[in-house]
Amino acid sequence: MSTNPPDLRPDLARAVLREDSRPGQPKIGMVSLGCPKALVDSERILTRLRAEGYAISPDYAGADAVIVNTCGFLDSAKAESLEAIGEALNRNGRVLVTGCLGADPEYITGAHPSVLAVTGPHQYEQVLDAVHKAVPPQPDPFVDLLPATGVTLTPRHYSYLKISEGCNHACKFCIIPDMRGKLQSRPAHAIVREAEKLVEAGVKELLVISQDTSAYGLDLKYAEERGHRAHITDLARDLGSLGAWVRLHYVYPYPHVRELIPLMAEGLILPYLDIPFQHADTGVLKRMARPAAAARTLDEIAAWREICPDISLRSTFIVGYPGETEDEFQVLLDWMDEAQLDRVGCFQYENVDGARSNALPDHVPDEVKEERWHRFMEKAQAISEAKLAAKVGKTIEVIVDEVEEDAATCRTKADAPEIDGCLFIDEGHEDLKPGQIVSVVVDEAGEYDLWGRLA
Ligand code: SF4
Repeated sequence: MSTNPPDLRPDLARAVLREDSRPGQPKIGMVSLGCPKALVDSERILTRLRAEGYAISPDYAGADAVIVNTCGFLDSAKAESLEAIGEALNRNGRVLVTGCLGADPEYITGAHPSVLAVTGPHQYEQVLDAVHKAVPPQPDPFVDLLPATGVTLTPRHYSYLKISEGCNHACKFCIIPDMRGKLQSRPAHAIVREAEKLVEAGVKELLVISQDTSAYGLDLKYAEERGHRAHITDLARDLGSLGAWVRLHYVYPYPHVRELIPLMAEGLILPYLDIPFQHADTGVLKRMARPAAAARTLDEIAAWREICPDISLRSTFIVGYPGETEDEFQVLLDWMDEAQLDRVGCFQYENVDGARSNALPDHVPDEVKEERWHRFMEKAQAISEAKLAAKVGKTIEVIVDEVEEDAATCRTKADAPEIDGCLFIDEGHEDLKPGQIVSVVVDEAGEYDLWGRLA
């Protein structure tokens, strides 16, 4: 199977398509033909699929289905595309066709009636929807970067932007370093180029993802190449200059994160940080072997809020980690009272095949985990409710995600797609379009969502 030759890859990524995958993980192969524009589409499709939990297969045999991104510019390119589809059908059998030649579906189905789906050039969301149908996602909350709910619809106005693969840490409950290897950052100029193409193609919001966003560039020694330095602060500034909303996910509370906050205060990137704290008790964090286990996170949060009072903080936590005592759990609840996070997710600890935490002593009984989870969520919900109530009467900017007859579903700057809340507009919304950014007066607040009217 051909993958993009390195000199044509739009991202010039050092990170190769890794062959390892977890058992049962759906795998997709990609044959990418054609011009650099088509390669950007291929990269974008692969980025999204990886984020959704698919593995990318480097060969036909290992793939559950193969996407052929075709070129139809010249007759010779058309012939090459048909040949590539034929080869994929012979070697794998389950083939989805996209790209320029897909503009003429009968031409393809005439020659190859058994292809599963045909989509046209730059029909990014249709390709992904076709993949979901052909090979349903098998979300795994332990390793995936997106929540399971996010994988059915693929809107065009926001896009995930993966800046690195792998992770240098060794958190005991996590198998990602074993599966994905050490941190491998993409060169900053390649990321910026991909982001530029996305914005040119109509993307209004870039969601920066990786396993450890604040570590970005460490493996490249933060080197500058083609005018772009591989450091998260510089990258955030570069991305922020493109005119789209830029949202950072999976940032660890390292001291240099403070440098990002002025960019938020200036409006260059969204005042939003997704920081997986996982716990607040130092003993638990040490047993988890978390990066920045001893960080004084409450001090950091206070410092961030001083620089950017509007900052929204989202985090995820694990309750019932092996050995977690009632006192340690109480430290977490007290910390929550102080930290006043805007958005919070919580998991009950579970063993994952291959994780070192499985072997820790004093596993917490299921009913205790469940009970702690409820206590934690009750607190998180009360905080969220109070924070949202404080927004009533304010005028804020929102991005429109979906327009239906009875309401438009939008998000504020404090809400990431698929994981946070929504703002609904149920009057005068008929002419709104997905991706539009509008000002709204907040009328009403619930536990997780807001309602408002156009300002
Ligand atoms: S920082 Fe820890 S939890 Fe996150 S990917 Fe690395 S090892 Fe896993």
